[in-house]
Amino acid sequence: MTDYAIKMESNPNMKTIWKDCLSIIKDKVPDLTYNTWFLPIKPIELNNQNLLVEVPSSFFIEWLEERYGNIIDETIKSVIGKNAELSFIIAENKEENSTTNISNSNITQLPTLRKVENNNYYKKDEIDLSEKEETPISLLNPRYTFENFIKGENNQLARAAALAIADNPGETSFNPLFIYGGVGLGKTHLIQAIGNEILQKKSAIKVSYLSADMFTAEFVDAIQHDKVNEFSSRYKTVDVLIIDDIQFLIGKEKTQDLFFQIFNQLHQSGKQIILSSDKPPKELKGLSERLVSRFQWGLTADIQPPDLETRIAILNKKSKNYGINISHKMIEYIALNITSNIRELEGCLIKLLANSSLSNKEIDIELVKRTVKEIATNRETNITIDQITKVVCQHFKVEENAVREKNRKKEVVIARQVAMYLSKKLTAYSLKTVGLHFGGRDHSTVIHAQTTIESLMEVDPQLKESVNYLKNKIEFSI
Ligand code: ADP
Ligand code: MG
Repeated sequence: MTDYAIKMESNPNMKTIWKDCLSIIKDKVPDLTYNTWFLPIKPIELNNQNLLVEVPSSFFIEWLEERYGNIIDETIKSVIGKNAELSFIIAENKEENSTTNISNSNITQLPTLRKVENNNYYKKDEIDLSEKEETPISLLNPRYTFENFIKGENNQLARAAALAIADNPGETSFNPLFIYGGVGLGKTHLIQAIGNEILQKKSAIKVSYLSADMFTAEFVDAIQHDKVNEFSSRYKTVDVLIIDDIQFLIGKEKTQDLFFQIFNQLHQSGKQIILSSDKPPKELKGLSERLVSRFQWGLTADIQPPDLETRIAILNKKSKNYGINISHKMIEYIALNITSNIRELEGCLIKLLANSSLSNKEIDIELVKRTVKEIATNRETNITIDQITKVVCQHFKVEENAVREKNRKKEVVIARQVAMYLSKKLTAYSLKTVGLHFGGRDHSTVIHAQTTIESLMEVDPQLKESVNYLKNKIEFSI
């Protein structure tokens, strides 16, 4: 019997608790989401209010964290208690790692759920605290390697610089290395690959990887416990400091000051600094000038959205890794339809796998089409009614305010109805909420707009084209 099995037996309540959580979540998410992402989660251990669950892959953690972090957080807090937290372990790694050895990324916590006061990046009671005091946080995901990182025109410079640094940390002119680019394009993967590669070659090198919000949270914790000196000296002893999503330092002046000191100290002693951001340094408004200028001392490299060939290469490689049997034609369909985000390409493969195993059917082109569509629908949850209104009003050349007022001019009425129609189609907002966004109109007005636009589209090809154009524009510009 494994350690885990023993833990489960010794805590019979845990299963009931998780069942309660699931029944709440089931009401809050679509069935497919529930079946795909929540049913495979297994409760492992409940330690005080910290629930450890097992998931099939690290991708699950990212997916859950990104889309359902709040739902999970609310749910476990309502079932377990207000200090409840969730930690994950990945199934494939569980046999190799006893619960006493969880300072690496096999256990990850949702950042939104992480409670810094207890320093839960590690499980406090199971880690040697004296060691933790000296070692800054490092949560490298072993999956993020150079080997798994597909080279493309979109990431050429960033990847080349990353490889050079992994060979000679602190000794190239790329210090700091500043990588920037949009969401899901591989920044985290690439900067973690540097850390993993260095550790693999020379395990004695101290590598610390964390995101800027974790850094901030740890700093705040240090202030509260009067341990700022210890905190900063810990970071000043690392050889390679990797900070992800540095844009999180925006507006946090005290943290910026401290980071500035650490940066200077490390840089002067020839230690390597690697940063990622969603924007180039100059566009990081709200970050102190002196930091922005230091960020430009080394090399700034961007990662762009992947071109078609790179997308196909990524899908080929990932489908092999996941053992998914899928034809070239299907890969091409996905690559042609999911264009701006590598995380979504990967998400699509996982969903295909999940959908085909749930329905017990081979993957076919119909399933591929449906899955691609689902991904697009999920993406739409980020679209706001205001964004839709803006794009629609621009297109019909009417004032945004006009659609919210009692204006009955023909072009205003059509713009309002199209905006309402698209708001229902592209977001999950209720009829009532949509109505409220358009000058407090009633839900029946929204229904009327939907049916009017639908029937007009059947008889007016020009309007149909406009609506489809607007729909694409809104979906893909966000
Ligand atoms: P970002 O940090 O830019 O938002 P991530 O590094 O988290 O993006 O990448 C999102 C997902 O896409 C990860 O699972 C990552 O492994 C994968 N990915 C990104 N770029 C590549 C690439 N060039 N080759 C293979 N996988 C990639
Ligand atoms: Mg990232």
